[in-house]
Amino acid sequence: MKEGMGKVAVAAAVIGAAAVVGVAALVVRQRMKSSGRWARAMAIVKEFEEKCGTPDIKLKQVADAMTVEMHAGLASEGGSKLKMLISYVDNLPKGDEEGVFYALDLGGTNFRVLRVQLGGKAGGIVHQEFTEASIPPALMGGTSDALFDYIAEKLAKFVAEEEQKFHQPPGRQRELGFTFSFPVMQTSINSGTLIRWTKGFSISDAVGQDVVAELTKALQRKGVEMRVAALVNDTIGTLAGGRYTNKDVAVSIILGTGTNAAYVERAQAIPKWHGPLPKTGEMVINMEWGNFRSLHLPLTEYDHAMDVESLNPGEQIFEKMTSGMYLGEILRRVLLKIAEEAAFFGDEVPAKLKISFILRTPDMSAMHHDTSSDLRVVGQKLKDVLEISNTSLKKRRIVVKLCNIVTARGARLAAAGVLGVLKKMGLDSLKEPEKTVVAMDGGLFEHYAEYRGCLENTLRELVGEETASSIVVEHSNDGSGIGAALLAASHSLYLKDKS
Ligand code: ADP
Ligand code: MG
Repeated sequence: MKEGMGKVAVAAAVIGAAAVVGVAALVVRQRMKSSGRWARAMAIVKEFEEKCGTPDIKLKQVADAMTVEMHAGLASEGGSKLKMLISYVDNLPKGDEEGVFYALDLGGTNFRVLRVQLGGKAGGIVHQEFTEASIPPALMGGTSDALFDYIAEKLAKFVAEEEQKFHQPPGRQRELGFTFSFPVMQTSINSGTLIRWTKGFSISDAVGQDVVAELTKALQRKGVEMRVAALVNDTIGTLAGGRYTNKDVAVSIILGTGTNAAYVERAQAIPKWHGPLPKTGEMVINMEWGNFRSLHLPLTEYDHAMDVESLNPGEQIFEKMTSGMYLGEILRRVLLKIAEEAAFFGDEVPAKLKISFILRTPDMSAMHHDTSSDLRVVGQKLKDVLEISNTSLKKRRIVVKLCNIVTARGARLAAAGVLGVLKKMGLDSLKEPEKTVVAMDGGLFEHYAEYRGCLENTLRELVGEETASSIVVEHSNDGSGIGAALLAASHSLYLKDKS
Protein backbone atom coordinates (compact mmCIF):
# COMPACT_ATOMS: atom_id res chain seq x y z
CA MET A 1 0.00 0.00 0.00
CA LYS A 2 2.68 2.35 1.07
CA GLU A 3 4.62 1.21 -1.82
CA GLY A 4 1.58 1.73 -3.97
CA MET A 5 1.03 5.21 -2.56
CA GLY A 6 4.62 5.85 -3.30
CA LYS A 7 4.05 4.80 -6.86
CA VAL A 8 1.09 7.09 -7.17
CA ALA A 9 3.04 9.90 -5.60
CA VAL A 10 5.89 9.30 -7.96
CA ALA A 11 3.50 9.13 -10.87
CA ALA A 12 1.85 12.38 -9.79
CA ALA A 13 5.21 14.01 -9.42
CA VAL A 14 6.17 12.83 -12.86
CA ILE A 15 2.95 14.08 -14.36
CA GLY A 16 3.40 17.37 -12.53
CA ALA A 17 6.88 17.74 -13.84
CA ALA A 18 5.72 16.85 -17.31
CA ALA A 19 3.01 19.50 -17.07
CA VAL A 20 5.54 22.12 -16.03
CA VAL A 21 7.80 21.11 -18.86
CA GLY A 22 4.77 21.19 -21.19
CA VAL A 23 3.78 24.73 -20.20
CA ALA A 24 7.34 25.89 -20.49
CA ALA A 25 7.56 24.32 -23.93
CA LEU A 26 4.36 26.05 -24.95
CA VAL A 27 5.69 29.43 -23.81
CA VAL A 28 8.92 28.85 -25.64
CA ARG A 29 7.05 27.70 -28.74
CA GLN A 30 4.82 30.74 -28.56
CA ARG A 31 7.81 32.98 -28.20
CA MET A 32 9.54 31.23 -31.04
CA LYS A 33 6.42 31.57 -33.11
CA SER A 34 6.13 35.29 -32.49
CA SER A 35 9.82 35.92 -32.96
CA GLY A 36 9.66 33.76 -36.06
CA ARG A 37 6.76 35.84 -37.28
CA TRP A 38 8.63 39.03 -36.51
CA ALA A 39 11.70 37.75 -38.33
CA ARG A 40 9.54 36.78 -41.29
CA ALA A 41 7.90 40.22 -41.36
CA MET A 42 11.28 41.94 -41.15
CA ALA A 43 12.59 39.78 -43.97
CA ILE A 44 9.68 40.89 -46.15
CA VAL A 45 10.25 44.54 -45.23
CA LYS A 46 13.96 44.24 -45.90
CA GLU A 47 13.43 42.62 -49.27
CA PHE A 48 10.94 45.34 -50.21
CA GLU A 49 13.41 48.01 -49.14
CA GLU A 50 16.15 46.49 -51.25
CA LYS A 51 13.94 46.17 -54.30
CA CYS A 52 12.90 49.82 -53.92
CA GLY A 53 16.49 51.00 -53.78
CA THR A 54 17.28 54.14 -55.78
CA PRO A 55 21.00 54.83 -55.46
CA ASP A 56 22.17 57.90 -57.40
CA ILE A 57 23.72 55.78 -60.11
CA LYS A 58 20.36 54.17 -60.80
CA LEU A 59 18.62 57.55 -60.79
CA LYS A 60 21.09 58.82 -63.36
CA GLN A 61 20.26 55.84 -65.55
CA VAL A 62 16.57 56.65 -65.14
CA ALA A 63 17.26 60.28 -66.06
CA ASP A 64 19.23 59.25 -69.14
CA ALA A 65 16.47 56.89 -70.18
CA MET A 66 13.97 59.74 -69.79
CA THR A 67 16.11 61.97 -72.04
CA VAL A 68 16.41 59.22 -74.66
CA GLU A 69 12.65 58.61 -74.63
CA MET A 70 12.01 62.33 -74.99
CA HIS A 71 14.07 62.42 -78.16
CA ALA A 72 12.28 59.36 -79.50
CA GLY A 73 8.84 60.74 -78.68
CA LEU A 74 9.62 64.04 -80.40
CA ALA A 75 10.96 62.28 -83.48
CA SER A 76 7.78 60.48 -84.48
CA GLU A 77 4.25 59.64 -83.36
CA GLY A 78 4.41 56.42 -81.42
CA GLY A 79 8.20 56.59 -81.28
CA SER A 80 8.19 56.22 -77.53
CA LYS A 81 6.13 55.44 -74.47
CA LEU A 82 6.38 59.20 -73.98
CA LYS A 83 3.84 60.79 -76.28
CA MET A 84 5.60 64.19 -76.17
CA LEU A 85 2.38 65.87 -77.28
CA ILE A 86 2.47 69.18 -79.07
CA SER A 87 0.38 71.61 -77.04
CA TYR A 88 -0.02 74.31 -79.70
CA VAL A 89 1.05 76.75 -77.02
CA ASP A 90 3.91 78.63 -78.65
CA ASN A 91 3.33 81.77 -76.68
CA LEU A 92 3.33 81.71 -72.93
CA PRO A 93 1.63 84.58 -71.08
CA LYS A 94 3.55 87.83 -71.08
CA GLY A 95 1.70 89.72 -68.42
CA ASP A 96 -0.39 92.02 -70.63
CA GLU A 97 -3.45 89.74 -70.74
CA GLU A 98 -6.65 91.57 -69.92
CA GLY A 99 -10.31 90.87 -69.22
CA VAL A 100 -12.50 88.41 -67.35
CA PHE A 101 -11.91 84.76 -68.21
CA TYR A 102 -13.11 81.42 -66.97
CA ALA A 103 -11.26 78.21 -66.37
CA LEU A 104 -12.40 74.69 -65.76
CA ASP A 105 -9.94 72.30 -64.20
CA LEU A 106 -10.71 68.60 -64.49
CA GLY A 107 -7.85 66.39 -63.56
CA GLY A 108 -8.55 63.61 -61.16
CA THR A 109 -9.91 63.82 -57.69
CA ASN A 110 -11.58 67.21 -57.80
CA PHE A 111 -12.62 69.65 -60.40
CA ARG A 112 -12.79 73.38 -60.15
CA VAL A 113 -14.36 76.30 -61.94
CA LEU A 114 -12.62 79.66 -61.81
CA ARG A 115 -13.34 83.24 -62.73
CA VAL A 116 -10.28 85.40 -63.18
CA GLN A 117 -9.98 89.08 -63.92
CA LEU A 118 -6.70 90.04 -65.55
CA GLY A 119 -5.58 93.63 -65.28
CA GLY A 120 -3.39 93.94 -68.37
CA LYS A 121 0.16 95.28 -68.26
CA ALA A 122 1.33 95.56 -64.66
CA GLY A 123 -2.23 95.00 -63.49
CA GLY A 124 -1.71 91.33 -62.67
CA ILE A 125 -4.52 89.17 -61.42
CA VAL A 126 -7.07 91.66 -60.21
CA HIS A 127 -9.59 89.17 -58.99
CA GLN A 128 -10.05 85.42 -58.80
CA GLU A 129 -12.69 83.21 -57.33
CA PHE A 130 -13.41 79.54 -57.67
CA THR A 131 -15.63 76.74 -56.61
CA GLU A 132 -14.56 73.15 -56.19
CA ALA A 133 -16.42 69.86 -56.28
CA SER A 134 -15.36 66.25 -56.19
CA ILE A 135 -16.16 64.00 -59.12
CA PRO A 136 -18.79 61.46 -58.06
CA PRO A 137 -17.07 58.06 -58.51
CA ALA A 138 -19.97 56.77 -60.60
CA LEU A 139 -19.26 59.45 -63.22
CA MET A 140 -15.68 58.27 -63.59
CA GLY A 141 -16.91 55.07 -65.22
CA GLY A 142 -20.17 56.25 -66.79
CA THR A 143 -20.80 57.93 -70.10
CA SER A 144 -19.12 60.89 -71.65
CA ASP A 145 -22.38 62.86 -71.67
CA ALA A 146 -22.98 62.24 -67.98
CA LEU A 147 -19.54 63.50 -67.03
CA PHE A 148 -19.66 66.58 -69.24
CA ASP A 149 -23.24 67.40 -68.22
CA TYR A 150 -22.21 67.33 -64.59
CA ILE A 151 -19.33 69.70 -65.26
CA ALA A 152 -21.42 71.99 -67.42
CA GLU A 153 -24.06 72.19 -64.74
CA LYS A 154 -21.55 73.31 -62.12
CA LEU A 155 -20.20 75.86 -64.54
CA ALA A 156 -23.72 77.09 -65.36
CA LYS A 157 -24.37 77.71 -61.68
CA PHE A 158 -21.07 79.50 -61.24
CA VAL A 159 -21.69 81.73 -64.27
CA ALA A 160 -25.18 82.53 -63.06
CA GLU A 161 -23.65 83.95 -59.88
CA GLU A 162 -21.36 86.29 -61.83
CA GLU A 163 -21.37 89.81 -60.42
CA GLN A 164 -22.36 92.57 -62.78
CA LYS A 165 -18.89 94.09 -62.78
CA PHE A 166 -17.51 90.91 -64.33
CA HIS A 167 -19.95 90.86 -67.23
CA GLN A 168 -18.40 90.88 -70.69
CA PRO A 169 -18.54 94.05 -72.78
CA PRO A 170 -21.46 94.07 -75.26
CA GLY A 171 -21.05 91.72 -78.21
CA ARG A 172 -18.44 89.63 -76.52
CA GLN A 173 -18.86 86.03 -75.47
CA ARG A 174 -17.39 84.64 -72.28
CA GLU A 175 -14.25 82.61 -72.88
CA LEU A 176 -12.90 79.61 -71.06
CA GLY A 177 -9.63 77.79 -70.68
CA PHE A 178 -10.27 74.09 -70.19
CA THR A 179 -7.70 72.19 -68.18
CA PHE A 180 -8.29 68.56 -68.99
CA SER A 181 -5.49 66.50 -67.48
CA PHE A 182 -5.57 63.30 -69.48
CA PRO A 183 -3.59 62.40 -72.61
CA VAL A 184 -5.06 64.36 -75.52
CA MET A 185 -3.87 64.45 -79.11
CA GLN A 186 -4.13 68.16 -79.67
CA THR A 187 -5.19 69.35 -83.13
CA SER A 188 -5.13 73.07 -82.36
CA ILE A 189 -5.01 75.23 -79.28
CA ASN A 190 -8.69 74.52 -78.68
CA SER A 191 -9.35 71.08 -80.05
CA GLY A 192 -8.02 67.63 -79.40
CA THR A 193 -9.06 64.02 -79.01
CA LEU A 194 -8.77 61.91 -75.90
CA ILE A 195 -6.12 59.21 -76.34
CA ARG A 196 -6.99 57.20 -73.22
CA TRP A 197 -8.05 57.66 -69.65
CA THR A 198 -5.74 57.46 -66.65
CA LYS A 199 -6.08 57.91 -62.88
CA GLY A 200 -9.05 55.60 -62.43
CA PHE A 201 -11.31 57.04 -65.15
CA SER A 202 -12.78 54.66 -67.72
CA ILE A 203 -15.44 56.25 -69.89
CA SER A 204 -15.10 54.31 -73.08
CA ASP A 205 -17.32 56.42 -75.32
CA ALA A 206 -15.11 59.47 -74.69
CA VAL A 207 -11.92 57.95 -76.07
CA GLY A 208 -11.23 59.25 -79.56
CA GLN A 209 -13.72 62.08 -79.16
CA ASP A 210 -12.90 65.76 -79.40
CA VAL A 211 -12.89 66.92 -75.81
CA VAL A 212 -13.78 70.51 -76.64
CA ALA A 213 -16.68 69.46 -78.87
CA GLU A 214 -18.02 67.27 -76.06
CA LEU A 215 -17.75 70.08 -73.54
CA THR A 216 -19.28 72.60 -75.96
CA LYS A 217 -22.28 70.34 -76.56
CA ALA A 218 -22.78 69.92 -72.82
CA LEU A 219 -22.54 73.68 -72.31
CA GLN A 220 -25.24 74.13 -74.92
CA ARG A 221 -27.43 71.51 -73.26
CA LYS A 222 -27.07 73.40 -69.99
CA GLY A 223 -27.63 76.81 -71.61
CA VAL A 224 -24.15 78.22 -70.90
CA GLU A 225 -22.91 80.73 -73.45
CA MET A 226 -19.21 80.21 -73.48
CA ARG A 227 -16.44 79.76 -76.00
CA VAL A 228 -13.68 77.28 -75.23
CA ALA A 229 -10.61 79.30 -76.20
CA ALA A 230 -7.89 76.96 -74.99
CA LEU A 231 -7.62 73.28 -74.23
CA VAL A 232 -4.68 72.49 -72.00
CA ASN A 233 -3.74 70.15 -69.21
CA ASP A 234 -2.51 70.87 -65.72
CA THR A 235 1.16 70.89 -66.73
CA ILE A 236 0.60 73.42 -69.52
CA GLY A 237 -1.59 75.51 -67.23
CA THR A 238 1.03 75.42 -64.50
CA LEU A 239 3.75 76.38 -66.96
CA ALA A 240 1.64 79.30 -68.20
CA GLY A 241 0.66 80.38 -64.71
CA GLY A 242 4.25 80.12 -63.53
CA ARG A 243 5.59 82.08 -66.49
CA TYR A 244 3.06 84.86 -65.89
CA THR A 245 4.75 85.67 -62.60
CA ASN A 246 8.29 84.51 -63.33
CA LYS A 247 9.91 84.62 -66.76
CA ASP A 248 12.45 81.93 -65.80
CA VAL A 249 9.82 79.20 -65.56
CA ALA A 250 10.59 76.68 -68.31
CA VAL A 251 9.48 73.35 -66.87
CA SER A 252 6.37 72.32 -64.97
CA ILE A 253 5.70 69.16 -63.04
CA ILE A 254 2.46 67.94 -61.56
CA LEU A 255 2.45 65.57 -58.64
CA GLY A 256 -1.14 65.09 -57.57
CA THR A 257 -3.46 62.17 -58.17
CA GLY A 258 -1.27 61.42 -61.17
CA THR A 259 1.93 62.91 -62.49
CA ASN A 260 3.02 64.66 -65.65
CA ALA A 261 5.52 67.19 -66.97
CA ALA A 262 5.71 69.91 -69.60
CA TYR A 263 8.55 72.09 -70.81
CA VAL A 264 9.46 74.64 -73.44
CA GLU A 265 11.11 73.03 -76.46
CA ARG A 266 12.77 74.60 -79.49
CA ALA A 267 10.30 74.08 -82.32
CA GLN A 268 13.13 72.98 -84.58
CA ALA A 269 13.92 70.14 -82.21
CA ILE A 270 10.54 68.54 -82.89
CA PRO A 271 10.96 66.48 -86.07
CA LYS A 272 7.34 65.32 -85.99
CA TRP A 273 6.06 68.91 -86.08
CA HIS A 274 4.95 69.59 -89.63
CA GLY A 275 3.21 72.93 -89.20
CA PRO A 276 4.78 76.29 -89.92
CA LEU A 277 7.43 77.12 -87.34
CA PRO A 278 5.97 79.37 -84.67
CA LYS A 279 7.25 82.94 -84.67
CA THR A 280 8.59 82.46 -81.19
CA GLY A 281 10.55 79.42 -82.32
CA GLU A 282 9.24 77.63 -79.27
CA MET A 283 6.60 75.07 -78.48
CA VAL A 284 5.39 73.77 -75.16
CA ILE A 285 5.51 69.99 -75.04
CA ASN A 286 3.20 67.94 -72.86
CA MET A 287 5.36 64.94 -72.10
CA GLU A 288 2.75 62.62 -70.58
CA TRP A 289 5.64 61.33 -68.54
CA GLY A 290 3.37 59.26 -66.34
CA ASN A 291 3.59 56.60 -69.04
CA PHE A 292 7.38 56.48 -68.89
CA ARG A 293 8.88 53.10 -68.18
CA SER A 294 12.36 51.73 -68.22
CA LEU A 295 14.20 48.61 -67.13
CA HIS A 296 16.02 50.84 -64.67
CA LEU A 297 12.85 51.50 -62.68
CA PRO A 298 12.95 49.57 -59.40
CA LEU A 299 9.68 47.67 -59.71
CA THR A 300 8.56 45.21 -57.05
CA GLU A 301 6.06 42.37 -56.93
CA TYR A 302 3.63 44.81 -55.30
CA ASP A 303 3.89 47.20 -58.25
CA HIS A 304 3.32 44.38 -60.70
CA ALA A 305 0.27 43.12 -58.86
CA MET A 306 -1.21 46.61 -58.53
CA ASP A 307 -0.61 47.25 -62.22
CA VAL A 308 -2.16 43.97 -63.35
CA GLU A 309 -5.29 44.66 -61.32
CA SER A 310 -5.55 48.28 -62.44
CA LEU A 311 -7.90 49.74 -65.04
CA ASN A 312 -4.91 50.44 -67.28
CA PRO A 313 -2.50 47.49 -66.97
CA GLY A 314 0.90 48.06 -68.51
CA GLU A 315 0.33 51.78 -68.75
CA GLN A 316 1.40 54.74 -66.60
CA ILE A 317 4.10 52.74 -64.83
CA PHE A 318 6.09 55.82 -63.77
CA GLU A 319 2.87 57.40 -62.50
CA LYS A 320 2.02 54.27 -60.54
CA MET A 321 5.37 54.49 -58.71
CA THR A 322 5.37 58.21 -58.01
CA SER A 323 1.92 59.73 -57.70
CA GLY A 324 -0.71 60.27 -55.05
CA MET A 325 -3.30 57.86 -56.32
CA TYR A 326 -0.96 54.91 -55.85
CA LEU A 327 1.48 55.44 -52.95
CA GLY A 328 -1.03 54.53 -50.25
CA GLU A 329 -2.11 51.51 -52.25
CA ILE A 330 1.45 50.22 -52.56
CA LEU A 331 1.83 50.60 -48.80
CA ARG A 332 -1.42 48.70 -48.25
CA ARG A 333 -0.17 45.84 -50.37
CA VAL A 334 3.03 45.49 -48.37
CA LEU A 335 1.10 45.65 -45.09
CA LEU A 336 -1.25 42.98 -46.39
CA LYS A 337 1.71 40.77 -47.27
CA ILE A 338 3.21 40.95 -43.77
CA ALA A 339 -0.25 40.43 -42.30
CA GLU A 340 -0.80 37.32 -44.40
CA GLU A 341 2.63 35.79 -44.28
CA ALA A 342 3.85 36.85 -40.87
CA ALA A 343 0.62 37.46 -38.94
CA PHE A 344 1.88 41.00 -38.39
CA PHE A 345 -1.48 42.22 -37.16
CA GLY A 346 -2.44 39.05 -35.30
CA ASP A 347 -3.62 35.60 -36.32
CA GLU A 348 -6.37 36.95 -38.49
CA VAL A 349 -5.67 39.16 -41.45
CA PRO A 350 -7.60 42.40 -40.89
CA ALA A 351 -10.50 42.35 -43.35
CA LYS A 352 -10.21 46.02 -44.30
CA LEU A 353 -6.60 45.57 -45.27
CA LYS A 354 -7.78 43.43 -48.18
CA ILE A 355 -9.71 46.29 -49.78
CA SER A 356 -7.87 47.95 -52.67
CA PHE A 357 -7.25 51.68 -52.41
CA ILE A 358 -8.71 51.86 -48.91
CA LEU A 359 -5.49 53.35 -47.58
CA ARG A 360 -5.18 56.73 -49.23
CA THR A 361 -1.99 58.70 -49.65
CA PRO A 362 -3.14 61.55 -47.35
CA ASP A 363 -3.57 58.95 -44.57
CA MET A 364 -0.16 57.55 -45.33
CA SER A 365 1.27 61.04 -45.26
CA ALA A 366 -0.33 61.71 -41.86
CA MET A 367 1.29 58.55 -40.49
CA HIS A 368 4.63 59.39 -42.05
CA HIS A 369 4.66 62.83 -40.43
CA ASP A 370 3.67 61.59 -36.99
CA THR A 371 6.13 63.16 -34.55
CA SER A 372 4.53 61.94 -31.33
CA SER A 373 6.74 59.72 -29.18
CA ASP A 374 4.24 56.87 -29.19
CA LEU A 375 3.29 57.36 -32.85
CA ARG A 376 -0.28 57.88 -31.89
CA VAL A 377 -1.35 59.19 -35.30
CA VAL A 378 -0.12 55.92 -36.82
CA GLY A 379 -2.08 53.99 -34.22
CA GLN A 380 -5.17 56.08 -34.86
CA LYS A 381 -4.99 55.80 -38.65
CA LEU A 382 -4.51 52.03 -38.49
CA LYS A 383 -7.57 51.90 -36.30
CA ASP A 384 -9.74 54.35 -38.23
CA VAL A 385 -8.87 53.27 -41.74
CA LEU A 386 -8.06 49.58 -41.35
CA GLU A 387 -9.77 48.70 -38.05
CA ILE A 388 -6.49 47.41 -36.65
CA SER A 389 -6.29 48.19 -32.96
CA ASN A 390 -3.73 47.84 -30.18
CA THR A 391 -0.64 48.08 -32.33
CA SER A 392 2.64 48.15 -30.47
CA LEU A 393 5.08 51.00 -30.90
CA LYS A 394 7.47 48.57 -32.55
CA LYS A 395 4.90 47.76 -35.21
CA ARG A 396 3.97 51.39 -35.74
CA ARG A 397 7.63 52.09 -36.37
CA ILE A 398 7.62 49.49 -39.12
CA VAL A 399 4.59 51.14 -40.69
CA VAL A 400 6.42 54.49 -40.73
CA LYS A 401 9.46 52.81 -42.20
CA LEU A 402 7.33 51.41 -45.01
CA CYS A 403 5.82 54.85 -45.66
CA ASN A 404 9.33 56.13 -46.00
CA ILE A 405 10.45 53.41 -48.40
CA VAL A 406 7.48 53.94 -50.73
CA THR A 407 7.68 57.73 -50.61
CA ALA A 408 11.44 58.02 -50.95
CA ARG A 409 11.37 55.79 -54.01
CA GLY A 410 8.60 57.87 -55.59
CA ALA A 411 10.15 61.24 -54.79
CA ARG A 412 13.62 60.18 -55.90
CA LEU A 413 12.30 58.81 -59.19
CA ALA A 414 10.40 62.05 -59.77
CA ALA A 415 13.65 63.94 -59.18
CA ALA A 416 15.37 61.69 -61.70
CA GLY A 417 12.60 62.51 -64.16
CA VAL A 418 13.22 66.23 -63.67
CA LEU A 419 16.93 65.67 -64.26
CA GLY A 420 16.05 63.87 -67.49
CA VAL A 421 14.05 66.91 -68.68
CA LEU A 422 16.82 69.34 -67.69
CA LYS A 423 19.28 67.19 -69.63
CA LYS A 424 17.10 67.26 -72.71
CA MET A 425 17.01 71.04 -72.41
CA GLY A 426 20.79 71.11 -72.00
CA LEU A 427 20.47 72.88 -68.70
CA ASP A 428 22.36 70.38 -66.59
CA SER A 429 25.72 71.13 -68.12
CA LEU A 430 25.81 74.79 -69.11
CA LYS A 431 29.12 76.57 -68.59
CA GLU A 432 27.26 79.69 -67.56
CA PRO A 433 24.30 78.34 -65.64
CA GLU A 434 21.04 79.99 -66.63
CA LYS A 435 18.49 80.42 -63.96
CA THR A 436 15.73 77.92 -64.58
CA VAL A 437 12.59 77.59 -62.54
CA VAL A 438 10.72 74.32 -62.35
CA ALA A 439 7.12 75.09 -61.44
CA MET A 440 5.62 72.32 -59.35
CA ASP A 441 2.04 71.74 -58.37
CA GLY A 442 -0.39 69.07 -57.25
CA GLY A 443 -1.73 67.92 -53.92
CA LEU A 444 1.02 65.37 -53.35
CA PHE A 445 3.81 67.91 -53.77
CA GLU A 446 1.91 70.52 -51.85
CA HIS A 447 0.90 68.49 -48.81
CA TYR A 448 3.31 65.59 -48.47
CA ALA A 449 6.28 67.40 -46.90
CA GLU A 450 8.50 64.30 -46.73
CA TYR A 451 7.92 63.65 -50.42
CA ARG A 452 8.60 67.22 -51.40
CA GLY A 453 11.72 67.49 -49.22
CA CYS A 454 13.09 64.25 -50.57
CA LEU A 455 12.46 65.30 -54.18
CA GLU A 456 14.16 68.66 -53.71
CA ASN A 457 17.18 67.18 -51.92
CA THR A 458 17.57 64.44 -54.49
CA LEU A 459 17.43 66.87 -57.39
CA ARG A 460 20.11 69.01 -55.76
CA GLU A 461 22.23 65.93 -55.20
CA LEU A 462 21.79 64.77 -58.78
CA VAL A 463 22.56 68.03 -60.59
CA GLY A 464 25.50 68.84 -58.33
CA GLU A 465 26.15 71.89 -56.18
CA GLU A 466 27.27 74.15 -59.00
CA THR A 467 24.19 73.75 -61.15
CA ALA A 468 21.83 73.33 -58.21
CA SER A 469 22.04 77.03 -57.37
CA SER A 470 20.65 77.98 -60.77
CA ILE A 471 17.81 75.45 -60.79
CA VAL A 472 14.97 76.50 -58.62
CA VAL A 473 12.01 74.35 -57.72
CA GLU A 474 9.02 76.52 -56.99
CA HIS A 475 5.58 75.67 -55.82
CA SER A 476 3.28 77.31 -58.36
CA ASN A 477 0.09 77.29 -56.44
CA ASP A 478 -2.91 76.57 -58.53
CA GLY A 479 -1.29 77.37 -61.80
CA SER A 480 -3.42 74.83 -63.60
CA GLY A 481 -6.56 76.92 -63.20
CA ILE A 482 -5.12 80.41 -63.51
CA GLY A 483 -2.86 79.25 -66.32
CA ALA A 484 -5.81 78.01 -68.33
CA ALA A 485 -7.56 81.36 -67.86
CA LEU A 486 -4.36 83.12 -68.99
CA LEU A 487 -4.13 80.93 -72.07
CA ALA A 488 -7.78 81.59 -72.83
CA ALA A 489 -6.89 85.28 -72.66
CA SER A 490 -3.86 84.97 -74.92
CA HIS A 491 -5.94 82.94 -77.39
CA SER A 492 -9.05 85.08 -77.17
CA LEU A 493 -11.11 85.82 -80.26
CA TYR A 494 -11.14 89.44 -79.25
CA LEU A 495 -7.45 90.26 -79.11
CA LYS A 496 -6.94 93.73 -80.54
CA ASP A 497 -3.76 92.85 -82.37
CA LYS A 498 -5.13 89.57 -83.71
CA SER A 499 -4.10 89.29 -87.31
P1 ADP B 1 -5.67 66.30 -59.02
O1 ADP B 1 -4.33 65.72 -59.22
O2 ADP B 1 -6.71 65.27 -58.84
O3 ADP B 1 -6.02 67.35 -59.98
P2 ADP B 1 -4.63 67.60 -56.66
O4 ADP B 1 -3.50 68.23 -57.35
O5 ADP B 1 -5.36 68.41 -55.65
O6 ADP B 1 -5.72 67.04 -57.61
O7 ADP B 1 -4.06 66.31 -55.95
C1 ADP B 1 -4.87 65.50 -55.19
C2 ADP B 1 -4.05 64.33 -54.76
O8 ADP B 1 -2.99 64.77 -53.93
C3 ADP B 1 -4.82 63.34 -53.95
O9 ADP B 1 -5.38 62.35 -54.78
C4 ADP B 1 -3.75 62.76 -53.05
O10 ADP B 1 -3.17 61.65 -53.66
C5 ADP B 1 -2.72 63.83 -52.92
N1 ADP B 1 -2.86 64.49 -51.63
C6 ADP B 1 -3.79 65.36 -51.24
N2 ADP B 1 -3.62 65.72 -49.96
C7 ADP B 1 -2.54 65.05 -49.52
C8 ADP B 1 -1.84 64.98 -48.27
N3 ADP B 1 -2.22 65.65 -47.20
N4 ADP B 1 -0.77 64.18 -48.22
C9 ADP B 1 -0.38 63.47 -49.27
N5 ADP B 1 -0.99 63.49 -50.46
C10 ADP B 1 -2.05 64.27 -50.59
MG1 MG C 1 -5.07 68.99 -60.67
